[in-house]
Amino acid sequence: MFVSYDTEHGEELRISPNYTRGRSAGHRRTPTVHDRPVSWYRLLPARAAAQVTTLVLHATETPDLETAWELAEHGPRVCGHLYLDRDGSVHRFVPLDRVASHVRGHNTPSIGVELVNTGRHPDHFDTRSQTPDEDFPADQIEALKNLFPALRAEFPRLRTLLRHSDLDLETVPSTDDPSRRVRRRIDPGPRFPWDEVKAFWDQISDASTCGSSPTFGRSGRSGGSPPMR
Ligand SMILES: [Zn+2]
Repeated sequence: MFVSYDTEHGEELRISPNYTRGRSAGHRRTPTVHDRPVSWYRLLPARAAAQVTTLVLHATETPDLETAWELAEHGPRVCGHLYLDRDGSVHRFVPLDRVASHVRGHNTPSIGVELVNTGRHPDHFDTRSQTPDEDFPADQIEALKNLFPALRAEFPRLRTLLRHSDLDLETVPSTDDPSRRVRRRIDPGPRFPWDEVKAFWDQISDASTCGSSPTFGRSGRSGGSPPMR
């Protein structure tokens, strides 16, 4: 099962057309991805499918998809690969065979999936904005789950699911009171149904690996940091 694309030519493409065919791990509805690459994606480093081990979940912390698009296209070239709008539609800003800048220090082995959600917008670092209150619609979460089997089929070493907030623990001075610090990244945030989504991820992991553990699934190194690479 592969993700199909709704391109301007109406043709169907896989998530990453250059990758060799992976085995099917899915039994859910195949998601349709609307291809909308940023104009500068060819400047990003290329990578092989075998380098991809980790899926990192984000919230856009923007009012809508269009704002996220404008930031990606015209901002400092920081964005994820796939964007999931509130209605469950999936939009690809960066091909998955390119390294995107979406999580500091962990970009090369990871795919960035962004869920449209207001988050802390517009005062991201204000101490009074640190508890976002927008829920993630069921359609959006369902679309996210639908992506998992397709991605797992295409990237055979993709085994680790993390949140941006698991990987970026940095704090910065708050904008309303510089004597107090706030997290630089909290997304996807406390309203994201992490337990439900992680349980689903683990469920399809068990089904596709028959209990075998990938080498990056355990790390004896210093506690606290997630296993990467
Ligand atoms: Zn993020």
